[in-house]
Amino acid sequence: MREWEKNVRKVVPYVPGEQPKNRNIIKLNTNENPYPPSPKVEEALRKMNTDAIRRYPDPAAERLVNAIAAQHGVSPKQVFPGVGSDDVLAMAFLTFFNSEKPVLFPDITYSFYDVWADLFRIPYECMPLNESLEIVKEDYYRENGGVIFPNPNAPTGVLIPLSEVEDIISHNRGVIVMVDEAYIDFGGVSAVSLLDRYENLLIIRTFSKSRSMAGMRIGYAIGSEELIRCLNDVKYSFNSYTMNEAAICLGEAAASDREYFEMTRSKIIQTRERSKKELATLGFVFPDSCANFIFAKHEKVPAKELFEALKKEGIYVRYFAKPRIDNYLRITIGTDEEMDALFDFLRRYLKNR
Ligand code: PMP
Repeated sequence: MREWEKNVRKVVPYVPGEQPKNRNIIKLNTNENPYPPSPKVEEALRKMNTDAIRRYPDPAAERLVNAIAAQHGVSPKQVFPGVGSDDVLAMAFLTFFNSEKPVLFPDITYSFYDVWADLFRIPYECMPLNESLEIVKEDYYRENGGVIFPNPNAPTGVLIPLSEVEDIISHNRGVIVMVDEAYIDFGGVSAVSLLDRYENLLIIRTFSKSRSMAGMRIGYAIGSEELIRCLNDVKYSFNSYTMNEAAICLGEAAASDREYFEMTRSKIIQTRERSKKELATLGFVFPDSCANFIFAKHEKVPAKELFEALKKEGIYVRYFAKPRIDNYLRITIGTDEEMDALFDFLRRYLKNR
């Protein structure tokens, strides 16, 4: 080992889903929205003034923050924007998880949580989901240095009711509880209504899924003014200009188009419900999903085999070679046409195998 190597921060990085160069595929592997962003986004993009790019952007991204606050009926002082929710989550881990006691999160969950914990040297413990792949709320009633879980959980799609989210928060008033609501718009009730009662609650959300803007990288946290102040102190100690001019401008346009948002998310929910029926007919089993994906395994055929056969056909889904979930496929809900192509292929493949 060379001498300088001992001072290198050693990390095992998160592996994002594949983004193939070939555009001619059916891409159901990274939970993107199959529909374009709101037409208001395109309009705002066309009107964008390039002179604004010459200058630094507004470090507080006020226009975007105001639009998000209005959408949720909270004060702009309760909103913290970031470069996708990954950036917001990383900043939140750094800001709030500084105890010697372990942070708790599910064993099967968003696989970035343990990566940030390792990166920032935060101790953590994983609480196993039960046999039905559900979060067991009582597991989070023990002493800890903080709690985080997605609702609905990923990659399972399983939602816990708001009352159970509240139970977890109310048993943890001495630490910060983060609820990652990346997929909440596809079928759950947000914990935003709990903010008035719990100043230790931080909700993290994103424009990448229900707003069709993964490529623009916009995420945000909503919490008490105190928590948002703490996040800003850390952010301004790291990088003042996280939100670029385009993200501020296009994010504001997207956030103000409620009608388009409602239309596309209800289309995805409809396609998901139909997809559940099709998958069940094809011999798949899966926990009931409230997200824009379904986490399914086949009763007879190994997931890895299906994953590879689908890929050969140009249909990309996500497969995790990890304990407990290596026989599942995570299938993002695409358009009806894309899902039909998937079901047609599976029908043929399973019949001729
Ligand atoms: N949380 C969860 C549970 C996710 O699945 C994702 C998507 N990879 C994210 C956060 C991050 O999304 P983004 O950074 O695009 O907002």
